[in-house]
Amino acid sequence: MTEATEQFPYGVGYMDGAYCAKQDMQLPVADLGFLLSDTTYDALHVINGSFFRMEDHLNRWEQSITKRRFNTLSYDRDETREILMECVRRSGLRESMVYLLATRGEALDGLKDLRQCQNRFLAWAVPYYAVIPDDKMEDGIDICVSSVLRTPPDAIDPTVKNFARIDFSDALLEAYDKGYDHAVLLDRDGNVTEGRGWNIFALHGGRLVSPDDGVLEGITRRTVVELAQQTNIKAEFGKLKADELRSADEVFMTSTAGGIMPIRKIDDQVIGNGTKGPVTQRLTDMYWALHEDPDYNTPVDY
Ligand code: PLP
Repeated sequence: MTEATEQFPYGVGYMDGAYCAKQDMQLPVADLGFLLSDTTYDALHVINGSFFRMEDHLNRWEQSITKRRFNTLSYDRDETREILMECVRRSGLRESMVYLLATRGEALDGLKDLRQCQNRFLAWAVPYYAVIPDDKMEDGIDICVSSVLRTPPDAIDPTVKNFARIDFSDALLEAYDKGYDHAVLLDRDGNVTEGRGWNIFALHGGRLVSPDDGVLEGITRRTVVELAQQTNIKAEFGKLKADELRSADEVFMTSTAGGIMPIRKIDDQVIGNGTKGPVTQRLTDMYWALHEDPDYNTPVDY
């Protein structure tokens, strides 16, 4: 641990114009980000002291801010990038998850008029982590296909990363009750969507498919498709039914928090031979090798 991480073991945050220890960040209960889940956010990662695909994350963030009409935020791209850099710099972390969050802001009277709210901007850098435990990175996790449906995209736009996630919570509670680690949710037409914090891919023969609709357009998902194009594996966005997931040769999840992570079992069905498959392994190796490529990485000047 560097000196700085000893000072901030839980990371560094930024809100209301000042930096602080991550654990000291507090949101007023009147903030509609809390009361209405009226938020958007993005999550980046730093590996070996460099941000991965930083400008792609900032593009997605700016699109989300526009779509949510967070018009009273006053940070331009350079200021935003600098705040993220400074959170990591102050934390001293070389491996970090870095968050950007916008909330609708405080409603000071009962009318909760959205036009009167000053949108709030927060950011923080914490030690890097994955959405699955380290000891499951090799063989993979067990998931169930949830009976809880993903909130329809025409109700809450999933391409705008957000914390309105009770569907995911209910699906996870169901998964825990049944002894699974995670849950994947279907849409109302029975198509596979995603899980809390991750996209999903299934391999049939030499063809990888990830759901095309009703999901966050993950940066890791996009990276996998780009990497597959450099190999003899075909990768595309399309429709995927639960049975096609269960009968796949390999299934994996993708997230900034962990990269490419194998899925071992779906409901009662063991996938492949119950350990990370060769295509998953190959793409995982390529993914981490990309973290050495200067075109994809923005160094932090600590
Ligand atoms: N889907 C959802 C619902 C997510 O919250 C996330 C990330 O947090 C992902 C997919 C994966 O996206 P990315 O690869 O950009 O981290």
